[in-house]
Amino acid sequence: MNADAPIPSAIEVVGLTKRYGAGKPAVDNINLRIASGSYCCLLGPSGCGKSTTLRMIAGHESVSSGDVLLENRNITNLPAAERGTAMMFQSFALFPHLSALDNVAFSLKMKGVDKAARQAKAQDLLERVAMGHLAARKPGELSGGQQQRVALARALITQPRALLLDEPLSALDPFLRIQMRAELRRWQKELGLTFIHVTHSQEEAMALADTMVVMNHGIIEQSGSPHTVYNKPLNEFVARFMGGHNVIETPAGKIGVRTDQTRVAKADAAHIAGLPSIGALVSDVEYQGTYVLLGLQNPNAAHAVVSSAEYSVMLSEQQFAATPFAVGDAVQLAWTPESAHALQA
Ligand code: ADP
Ligand code: MG
Repeated sequence: MNADAPIPSAIEVVGLTKRYGAGKPAVDNINLRIASGSYCCLLGPSGCGKSTTLRMIAGHESVSSGDVLLENRNITNLPAAERGTAMMFQSFALFPHLSALDNVAFSLKMKGVDKAARQAKAQDLLERVAMGHLAARKPGELSGGQQQRVALARALITQPRALLLDEPLSALDPFLRIQMRAELRRWQKELGLTFIHVTHSQEEAMALADTMVVMNHGIIEQSGSPHTVYNKPLNEFVARFMGGHNVIETPAGKIGVRTDQTRVAKADAAHIAGLPSIGALVSDVEYQGTYVLLGLQNPNAAHAVVSSAEYSVMLSEQQFAATPFAVGDAVQLAWTPESAHALQA
């Protein structure tokens, strides 16, 4: 393969817009290419248009304007069942009265495939997700993780080119959620399928995605690898939404500095001499095990009395032990030019 050839995109979204009524569209003219065989996460706060975007790709929602392409085929106006996509929902939405096998075989039954053929295919898929031995159980007799595997097999039986997942893990307890996300990631790699996974959790997106797409108010603020988005947020929204960054006003504009790279010192300390800095007051000190998180406020800001900290600095336990800080301390926050990057207005 020619190294310069563009990576084939499984899904391409062009000028996609959804208006539910007058006013700002729920999804506002977005453009996106999702590489074939990659794990893409759509990430953003509640109401930003993630589910609407996914549903327009799936064919469960009409588009107001724009196009959806799957492997260069325009699928914008095709019914959901003819697109080559499959959807996996929150809490898996299995039929409680049907066995795992019949749940998986369900869509083939709807297509009129005869019983022996559809059950053989369903059994085969259950084997692939290591659930063959539990094919006769009903969902209520399966653990959350086992139900997720049945839901996956059920989505795969239509042989989709892309699997669309809308907050598939959010109904699970935190422990199972982390286990299940590792399974999703492993399946995606094993199957070589394109996954588009909607989540409002930046941690989940970072753990799963090859490409994460950060949305806000119906538009895409930034897309890229988790490493790029985390380390080089384009603007204040992304920096604050991803977390782990201080947004600092400087005469040259706003900059982002990671909280673990922001330095803190008593005003005249040698290790910040010559670095750009601002004054701050320590407003809280949180012990987090391997590190200590300092919350700080700008002493000059009009809202300095509000309780939420404006900046934070993450110090290793050793750093904190060597130079402890206490609530009320007046300090300097400093940063090296390499650790700061400009945020677009
Ligand atoms: P997200 O999944 O990111 O939380 P949604 O895509 O569900 O957001 O919703 C985006 C916006 O569109 C929200 O303001 C929501 O209230 C609105 N919206 C979603 N579905 C409908 C609908 N069927 N009718 C009217 N407004 C809707
Ligand atoms: Mg949603």
